[in-house]
Amino acid sequence: MKSKYINFKKNNNFEELKAPAEAIKQGKLVLFPTETVYGIGANALNEEAVKKIYIAKGRASDNPLIAHISHMEMLEQLVEKVGKVEKTLIENFWPGPLTIIFKKKKIVPDIITGGLDTVAIRMPSNQIARKLIEYSNCPIAAPSANISGKPSGTLVEDIIEELDGKVEYIIDSGKVDIGIESTVIRVQDGVVHILRPGKITPEDIQALKIPVHIEKQILGKYKEGEKILSPGIKYKHYSPNTKCVLIYSKDNDKMVQKINELSQNKNVVVLCKTKNLEKYNISNKLNMGNSLEEISKNIFTLLRKADTYKADLILIEGVEKIGLGLAIMNRLIRACAHDYIEI
Ligand code: AMP
Ligand code: MG
Repeated sequence: MKSKYINFKKNNNFEELKAPAEAIKQGKLVLFPTETVYGIGANALNEEAVKKIYIAKGRASDNPLIAHISHMEMLEQLVEKVGKVEKTLIENFWPGPLTIIFKKKKIVPDIITGGLDTVAIRMPSNQIARKLIEYSNCPIAAPSANISGKPSGTLVEDIIEELDGKVEYIIDSGKVDIGIESTVIRVQDGVVHILRPGKITPEDIQALKIPVHIEKQILGKYKEGEKILSPGIKYKHYSPNTKCVLIYSKDNDKMVQKINELSQNKNVVVLCKTKNLEKYNISNKLNMGNSLEEISKNIFTLLRKADTYKADLILIEGVEKIGLGLAIMNRLIRACAHDYIEI
């Protein structure tokens, strides 16, 4: 059966969210937008409903989900304690693209935490997401809308084929604002540990005079058996079917030269900045934009588009790993399965 489709592209009538909210209450799945990426949502407190998310995505059961809330009362319902640093982060970044890990209360089912004693919580800024949560009257567990391992969904057209029929409703509001998933952090002994980089950058947090530690695993390769702070790190993610290589140099000309070299005698697609489009003697070029904001917004949809060329190789320009660039490089390095050349 096909999913019911709600077009919210030009619609501001939140009444239309009442039917999908009812579906959430009944333990069904709803695909909805957030400011970061689209999510597949279910009532976070209903074990059977959450199970359906793992099945729809083909997601490993030890990879925990983020519970999305609309009000601070929901936070109190789910977590043991909100520390001083967490309070400061909430005051500054909620609602918004920051996920915070807390010690969980018993009410939170093990299925959403992958058996951990902690739970990841975020209050999204997207109005549709918040109204849906409010009308559902429960926290909504929602991972990115994509089959596990594939690039996350930032545009309904990209994911409809893989998810149609697996959810009760699809709420389509067009392209999302940010385009990469939330920053995930955990506070330990007053230090913010970045478990997944995102739009809220280490620099944004440091500006509040809070010390920040960037976990090495964000850019490194996970080694079997290694202790991990965020289970998602273990798994393949964001990958097109075509082999990808990421190339970066602080010297733009060197980067372009290397990509031109690698493309010789091959059928390639290049993902590049607007300013470099003319510098490639390659026919398949996809424009990522110039600013980090544009690149983050475009990256997942372009990785999917690049796949449609059925090329031998996708070559991708990297960016400097600072600010939002750290989050972009984290996604791209993983999309390329660590096939990364830095000159
Ligand atoms: P996604 O649902 O695709 O946005 O991914 C959620 C991310 O949050 C994954 O990388 C998880 O590993 C991470 N995460 C969720 N819950 C926890 C938790 N309790 N502790 C550490 N990381 C978590
Ligand atoms: Mg995901």
